Amino acid sequence: MNFVPVNQPLLDGREKQYLMECVDSGWISSEGPFVKQFETEFAARVQRKHGIAVSNGSVALDAAIAALGIQPGDEVILPTFTIISCAAAIVRAGAKPVLVDADPNTWNMNVEQVAAKITPRTKAIMIVHIYGLPVEVDPILKLAHQYGLWVIEDAAEMHGQTYKGEPCGSFGDISTFSFYPNKHITTGEGGMIVTNDDRLAERCQSLRNLCFQSQKRFVHEELGWNFRMTNLQAALGLAQLERLDEFVQRKRQMGQYYRDRLSDISDLQLPLPSTEYAENIYWVYGLVLSDSVPFDAADVMKQLSACGIGTRPFFWGMHEQPVLLRMGLFYGESYPVAERLARQGFYIPSGMALTEEQMEQVVFALKELFA
Ligand SMILES: *Cc1c(COP(=O)(O)O)cnc(C)c1O
Repeated sequence: MNFVPVNQPLLDGREKQYLMECVDSGWISSEGPFVKQFETEFAARVQRKHGIAVSNGSVALDAAIAALGIQPGDEVILPTFTIISCAAAIVRAGAKPVLVDADPNTWNMNVEQVAAKITPRTKAIMIVHIYGLPVEVDPILKLAHQYGLWVIEDAAEMHGQTYKGEPCGSFGDISTFSFYPNKHITTGEGGMIVTNDDRLAERCQSLRNLCFQSQKRFVHEELGWNFRMTNLQAALGLAQLERLDEFVQRKRQMGQYYRDRLSDISDLQLPLPSTEYAENIYWVYGLVLSDSVPFDAADVMKQLSACGIGTRPFFWGMHEQPVLLRMGLFYGESYPVAERLARQGFYIPSGMALTEEQMEQVVFALKELFA
């Protein structure tokens, strides 16, 4: 039986055609015309004024934090259950990450815990939409307004998703995306910052391009980075963006397929198909083992691997990261929901190119394991 990889992208649209245009024209750097076009079309898709393409979703967060002027002494509230990129961007700016736990059903940040974490030093709330369902945005926006805080929205896993009908990526003062190959649309590596704010957009454009100045190019008032996206990446991005609606539909069908066949395994918690404000787009199809099971996610993943099924563990909370604990952060803090998700959660193959035969194979292996 063939191995079922946890992710495989689908590149059978106009990807080749646009890439060939890059090669034929010689435009392969970030100066090529597809970059601007991708920025414009992507920003329009999420109803933002500006799109700033960058080299990945992690540096999009670095640039966002820097553009907002977040600095030592500042605090930023974020979920503990997320990818390291979120905390890393805050820590690298010299600021302090302040955590909230996850919701046991949506796996998103527990918005009810945010207010209690606001101090006079809080500058921003970083919301991170997790695994396919959006964060409950309204209470966050209300708090941000009330306390004068920035909202940074990490929408890396949310291409094509909406919250109460409005696109994810349209809620932050700055919002960010990733185009890693396991996201709904991919550029191989890549990311995008979107905003409506002219000044923040200009800051991000400058920061991604070494803070070159237009008049005195090699004289720098500030240190930036080279976070530029290439024309080759943007070519892929444009071809993928053309199919975003189709891709979202595909993911929803996968979610439905798995749900129909796995819901009778009582030891598995499946992703919620919807909340009152959104329908799941299943960035990944996550499973959480019930506490009564005598093994943990690591054991199951090992077993599935032996049956030819690729998996990945869930995020490991920021408050349990050795690198952050060694910096003196989160001493003695505990977030039980995130701790449980990290140990009991994993996700099964759910990439865009997954076939029904492969899903059948995954379901078969899981049924055997839990029989
Ligand atoms: C994938 C992801 C990122 C990082 O994106 P890269 O392009 O891999 O650097 C950041 N945040 C979230 C929530 C992600 O899922």
